[in-house]
Amino acid sequence: DEELVLHYQPKVNMRTGKVLGAEALLRWNHPERGLVPPLEFLPLVEDNDLAIEIGAWVIGQALRQQSRWLADGIRIKISINISGRHLQQNGFAGELEQLLQSCPEVPAELIELEVLETTALGDIGRVSEIIGQCRALGVSVSLDDFGTGYSSLTYLRRLPADTLKIDCSFVRDMLADPEDLAIVEAIIGLSEAFQRQVIAEGVETEEHGKLLLRLGCELGQGYGIARPMPAQDLPEWVRAYRQPAGWREIGHQHWLREDLPLHLAKFNHGALVDRIIAALESGQLTRDEPDLRPTANQFADWYKGEGAARYGALDEFRPVAKAHEALLGLLGEALDGRPDNADAPG
Ligand code: C2E
Ligand code: MG
Ligand code: MG
Repeated sequence: DEELVLHYQPKVNMRTGKVLGAEALLRWNHPERGLVPPLEFLPLVEDNDLAIEIGAWVIGQALRQQSRWLADGIRIKISINISGRHLQQNGFAGELEQLLQSCPEVPAELIELEVLETTALGDIGRVSEIIGQCRALGVSVSLDDFGTGYSSLTYLRRLPADTLKIDCSFVRDMLADPEDLAIVEAIIGLSEAFQRQVIAEGVETEEHGKLLLRLGCELGQGYGIARPMPAQDLPEWVRAYRQPAGWREIGHQHWLREDLPLHLAKFNHGALVDRIIAALESGQLTRDEPDLRPTANQFADWYKGEGAARYGALDEFRPVAKAHEALLGLLGEALDGRPDNADAPG
C-alpha cells in the first residue's frame, strides 16, 4: 500500500567535514501507529520471500532517489542494507545489475551495499563470490555491525569487502568501557592491516568523534552528526553541514596505543566527577550510590596499577594523587554534610 519509506542518515569524514554518503534506512509509515522502525517488522518477514520483495523495492527506491539527488546537484553515495537471505538468493548480482541498468544516470560507484557481518559468515565461499560479482558491477560493499560476528581473520581475508563498519554498541560504550575501546581500536587496526576502509556507526556525541579521530578512524555516522531524515531534507542538510571545530583541530594527531589506558583514565575520571555533580544536584547523594563506591573508582585502579607502572617515574605523576584525594575528600564532605546523615556533624 505504499506505506514503506526510506529515511537517510549521513556519513561524513569527521576530520575534513566532507559528507560522503547516506545510509538508506527503511521505515513503515503505518496509518495508525506512525513510523515503525525496521527492527519491529523486518524480522517478521525474514524467513519469507517478502523479505526479498522488500529488498528489491529498497534498491529500486534508493536508485530513484540517487537519480533525483544527482539532478539536484548532490553527489554522495547511497548505502543500502541487504538481508542475508536476499544476498544469497540465486541471481542477486544479476538482479542488481538490471536495477542499475534501469537507472543509467546513476553511476554504480555511488551505490554501496551493507551486508551484516553475521550473514557473511554463512557460506563464506558463496558469499565471497556474490560480493565479488557485485563489486565487478562497480558497487562497493561494507560489512555492517562488524565485530558482532566471529570476526574471523581468515574470513576477512577471503571477503572482498571494501569497508568495515564498526558496530554502534562498541562505539557507544568505548568512552567508559576499556574492553569496548580495545575492540574499536582492534577493528581500526584490522582495517589498516587488510587495507580496508573503516567507518564507525553510533557516533552519538562530539566526544565520540574526537576519540575515533585520535584512534585513526575518520569516517563516522550517528546521532551526533545527524539522525536519519526524510529524503527531501538531505540536500539542505548536506549544504549546511560543518563539522565541530574540535574535530577539525585534531587533524592527523593520533594517539599511541600504549597511551590509550591513560586517555581512558581521563574519561573515567571525568565521568566520576559528572556522577558526583549529578548526585549532588538531584539531592540523592548517598554512600550507597553504587557508582560512587571506592571499588567503582576506575580512575583510582588505573592510577595505582598501570598508571604507576608506566608513568610513576614522572614528576607530574605524584601530584595527581593529591588532586584525586582532594576530590574524594570533597565527596566525603558532601556526603557527611547531608542533613539526613544523622551521625555526622553539619
Ligand atoms: P544498521 O544497518 O546497523 O543501521 C544503523 C541503525 O542504527 C539505524 O537504526 C540507525 O537509525 C541507528 N543509529 C544511527 N546512529 C545512531 C546513534 O548514534 N545511536 C544509536 N543508538 N543508534 C543509531 P534503524 O533505522 O532502526 O535500523 C535498524 C536496522 O534495521 C539496521 O541496522 C539494518 O540492519 C536494518 N535495516 C534498516 N533498513 C533496512 C533495509 O532497507 N533492508 C534491510 N535488509 N535491513 C534494514
Ligand atoms: Mg547498515
Ligand atoms: Mg548496526
